[in-house]
Amino acid sequence: MIEARKYRVFTLRNFKKIPQVQTYLTETDKHSIEVVGNVLPFKVNNYVIDELIDWDNIPDDPIYQLTFPQRDMLSDAHFTEMENALKQDLPKAALKLVANKIRYELNPHPAGQEHNVPVLEGTKLTGIQHKYRETVLFFPSNSQTCHAYCTFCFRWPQFVGIDELKFAMQETDLLVEYLKKHREVTDVLFTGGDPMVMSVKKFSAYIDPLLEADIPNLKTIRIGTKALGYWPYKFLTDKDADEMLELFKRIVDQGIHLTVMAHFNHPVELRTPAVKAAIRRILQTGAKIRTQSPIMKHINDNAAAWRDMWKEQVQLGCIPYYMFVARDTGAQDYFAVELDRIHRIFRDAYRQVSGVARTVRGPSMSTDPGKVQILGVSQIHGEKVFVLRFIQGRNPNWVGQPFFATYDPNAIWLDDLEPALGRKQFFFEEERIKLDEIPLN
Ligand SMILES: *Cc1c(COP(=O)(O)O)cnc(C)c1O
Ligand code: SF4
Repeated sequence: MIEARKYRVFTLRNFKKIPQVQTYLTETDKHSIEVVGNVLPFKVNNYVIDELIDWDNIPDDPIYQLTFPQRDMLSDAHFTEMENALKQDLPKAALKLVANKIRYELNPHPAGQEHNVPVLEGTKLTGIQHKYRETVLFFPSNSQTCHAYCTFCFRWPQFVGIDELKFAMQETDLLVEYLKKHREVTDVLFTGGDPMVMSVKKFSAYIDPLLEADIPNLKTIRIGTKALGYWPYKFLTDKDADEMLELFKRIVDQGIHLTVMAHFNHPVELRTPAVKAAIRRILQTGAKIRTQSPIMKHINDNAAAWRDMWKEQVQLGCIPYYMFVARDTGAQDYFAVELDRIHRIFRDAYRQVSGVARTVRGPSMSTDPGKVQILGVSQIHGEKVFVLRFIQGRNPNWVGQPFFATYDPNAIWLDDLEPALGRKQFFFEEERIKLDEIPLN
């Protein structure tokens, strides 16, 4: 039996009240949190603090790095700018202006996400992204937050209130209509923020109309969530936990494949009694759990972390699914790992697990043209190259076709790479220009 835990949330406003913060952090640490936390989102809770962070291992502890803002997440110039603004005791609105200016400079909208917003009879569906043929992403307006915030998150503009950048949608009706018109779509992926911050009442307001509409092409519902990592009590002892699991069961009973896309960044998140019990309960509904994470410096840039995650996930009944390359936004300089090193870590971990854990796909970059996987480094006619391929493409025909980029040990993203073997452009680039001119629907 897992005992209920009362959710206590900490932000910039009250983090100095956290007992461990008082014991383990210096004044300088707290000052850095204050400065950086005014630009990047900061929110943590008592489960993360008491069960996941090893406070004797500060500042290197991976979950501390994952949730607490660090001095070096901002450049010296940005840090000083925010620090000075705070010193001047500016009114709230003026502080916000400074913070927003820095946020814009941190590229809050990477990889051309705004290109993927579809239109239905003249209405822009701002809560939907439809990029890959089979799958639409749905951003319920009620899931624009999370149980705690990851310092690397590329969704952060949604939490810090740059309103015009929000992807969110009020109603499921438009989604239902869109799915009926687009028979090629088989999957709906609920995302956010974290849809599993919603009460079952709010969440079922999205799910029930979808189930009632009985859309023949809808085969899979996915829920992207970090709740298993940050707040497993959502599925255990929270007051509507049982009802949430019943809702999962209803989805499964209607013949729809339900998969929880669980976001785990480090094996320590898989080791508490609470997370193990929560995984068991979700699986009992007939839902599946697939796992994903970016690879990031200071958190999980070593093969042992990935090997252990994949092994322990399989042991608990989860299916390893994605290793992502961290996106070029926010504190990317702090977290970025070179593609070459990422691939070596991936391969090193992959070699150490049995076939049942080799369901994992990656390392993958979510770029504007598609999800690009790094297959490895090779020599072709004496030229050292990265071998790449699309696991998803704006154009489905691109998927699976290997292509080559000149080897560059310092590259951290597709933009840093040049076509190899004397080509001027990657094979998809000419075509992409034409595709961009065609509206998605
Ligand atoms: C990754 C992703 C999907 C899902 O792709 P799968 O290969 O089906 O997991 C859908 N839409 C977007 C925009 C994505 O980035
Ligand atoms: S849980 Fe997901 S959406 Fe929320 S802060 Fe972390 S990465 Fe971002």
